[in-house]
Amino acid sequence: RAKAAGGNRYEIADAEADARAITRHSLTMALPMALDRGEFFIEYQPLVHLGDGSVRGAEALVRWLHPQHGVLGPDRFIPLAEDTGLIVPLGRWVLEQSVRQAREWREKERAGDYTGPLRVNVNLSPCQLTHPRLVQDTVDILERAGVEPGALCLEVTESALIGADDEVLKPLRRLAEMGVDIALDDFGTGYSNLANLRRLPVSILKLDRSFTRGMQHFPADPVDQKIVEGIVSLAHSLDLAVTVEGVETGHQAEQLRVMGCDTAQGWYYARPGPPDRLHELALVDAS
Ligand code: C2E
Ligand code: MG
Ligand code: MG
Ligand code: MG
Repeated sequence: RAKAAGGNRYEIADAEADARAITRHSLTMALPMALDRGEFFIEYQPLVHLGDGSVRGAEALVRWLHPQHGVLGPDRFIPLAEDTGLIVPLGRWVLEQSVRQAREWREKERAGDYTGPLRVNVNLSPCQLTHPRLVQDTVDILERAGVEPGALCLEVTESALIGADDEVLKPLRRLAEMGVDIALDDFGTGYSNLANLRRLPVSILKLDRSFTRGMQHFPADPVDQKIVEGIVSLAHSLDLAVTVEGVETGHQAEQLRVMGCDTAQGWYYARPGPPDRLHELALVDAS
């Protein structure tokens, strides 16, 4: 395509590709140091109960404050961390920070600052899933922080669990038995057989943002509506709660609530932000 556009364009396209490759390479090289230097930080995005509008917790989303490039989103560096194996220590760091944060929220809660209970959701990469220390690390982190397993939800993408054999599911099953919630993230983007859900130790479906987009207008796209209603009724019949991502408008929130979704997350409520913002949002709620 670039070639057909003429010599000039071709060079530009090439230069851009080079620049991207160089950036990818330099980011990959800088990753291990970044962890040691404390350049990562976590933003929290509230999870809101659609029935009563209360804040129930938040999803932890990692960012990298790069000394030259500024704040980088996870899509820029998580794939690199997965390729190099750094995702294991980075993921453990995110888990530890997030669980400590949950503990802090809960302390305020007990002090009567607001109604709880606030929980924390943490994303897990496929490499973490197959890491032999996942269960023990998680148990240690919860114990050290004095947080009960029920305050933690681990998010695993649908694609990571497609075709997962029992060996891969075993650690998740153990965590689920301990009381940790497991959520199937980005649900609806993979090819998983719905009947397959029964086999997975999950208690929450996170409906992908692409479905929420279909609810942008009122009335909603009728096909999207039928699909969402079908998923919600199937999920509920299997005792799974449904969380929707990417809610940007009140219309979407209202339609998804009517369709039976349980919890929502999106810019309509709040963008990801610093942990103290969650206190404020939960406080407003409690009053
Ligand atoms: P995800 O787990 O599906 O997280 C939701 C993403 O949607 C986040 O992007 C969030 O900022 C964005 N989002 C939330 N509400 C809205 C909305 O209303 N509209 C739109 N357009 N977007 C919204 P973010 O923070 O860039 O994270 C991207 C992905 O990176 C996450 O997708 C997750 O898969 C991955 N990720 C983030 N933190 C971690 C981590 O600590 N470990 C691992 N393994 N993956 C992570
Ligand atoms: Mg997630
Ligand atoms: Mg998601
Ligand atoms: Mg997503």
